[in-house]
Amino acid sequence: MSGMLARRAQSMAAIVCGAVSALATVPDAWAQGRGNPPAPGAGRGATTSEVRVLQVRPNVHMLSGAGGNITVLTFNEGVLLVDTGTAQMAPAVLDAVKRLSDKPIVHIINTSATSDHVGGNETLASSGKRIPMEVVAGEGPMIVAHENVMTRMSAPTGKQAAAPERAWPNETYHLDMMKLSTRFHGGEAIELLHAPSAHSDGDTLVWFRKSDVIATGDIFMTTSYPIVEVASGGTIDGVIDGLNRVLEIAFPDNRSEGGTMIIPGHGRLCDMADVGYYRDMVTIIRARVQDLIKKGQTLEQVKAARPTRDYDGRFGATTGPWTTDMFVEAVYRTLTPARK
Ligand SMILES: [Zn+2]
Repeated sequence: MSGMLARRAQSMAAIVCGAVSALATVPDAWAQGRGNPPAPGAGRGATTSEVRVLQVRPNVHMLSGAGGNITVLTFNEGVLLVDTGTAQMAPAVLDAVKRLSDKPIVHIINTSATSDHVGGNETLASSGKRIPMEVVAGEGPMIVAHENVMTRMSAPTGKQAAAPERAWPNETYHLDMMKLSTRFHGGEAIELLHAPSAHSDGDTLVWFRKSDVIATGDIFMTTSYPIVEVASGGTIDGVIDGLNRVLEIAFPDNRSEGGTMIIPGHGRLCDMADVGYYRDMVTIIRARVQDLIKKGQTLEQVKAARPTRDYDGRFGATTGPWTTDMFVEAVYRTLTPARK
């Protein structure tokens, strides 16, 4: 284990070094564009208000501290975001994005309809614009998501929608995947993979095939157990299938470490080893709960048996928006036949 940790430390150090050297090219953009010099260390580990900016690849950054993690792809024609954080943090996110590029936000991809991932859509979409040659008519950035995200954010005529219309996706997909053309996405091959009934019924894994980065949304995070929104169609089986999908398409650098960079819904930047550990943990907990259900135990009895006990030190919580009890209840309910 210590060898593995040492390798992890080395690989993370390599990322840090890579980021610092890549940073040397950043001031060009500032000189041409904003006349606003980057703060020392901007582009990696820098903060804009409470938003933290981490360089993942030369053109890919991860913003954290604004709700769910945000992935930023910068290219000649504009900026693409995966998720937009909370509504309250949107101005700080916009500020951080402007520090990375003087180009407008032209695309937003949402990994689910959860408010800490779509909350900034309205503000950030309003600040951006569509690439003029983009074939789809309309104004403002393309906002792309699975169609169930659109269903959850909008409402039938005459009903109150969950989100303002400006925040809704204007391009959706309903199959198991969608490819975005490289032409209007900086030459990047971006594939949207639907993870059915996972965190919710509208989850998308966003795979940057050329940059070798995957943004997972809330099926994977380093700060808690996966958030299974049962009321929005989430299930523990779907989460595990989604984690396995990430492991299928990710590639390691050495053993299971390094290589594809994986941006979780919340928490720090990860690689395959992190996802593998998490997948194993969630699979073990599912098996334990399934076993207790087979023995006829009630939800209260399952909670009392503490099937997550050995992982609680790292992922558990007794307070806050997603407690261990809520996770165990979600696992229990989605494994109980009556709720399937
Ligand atoms: Zn989230």
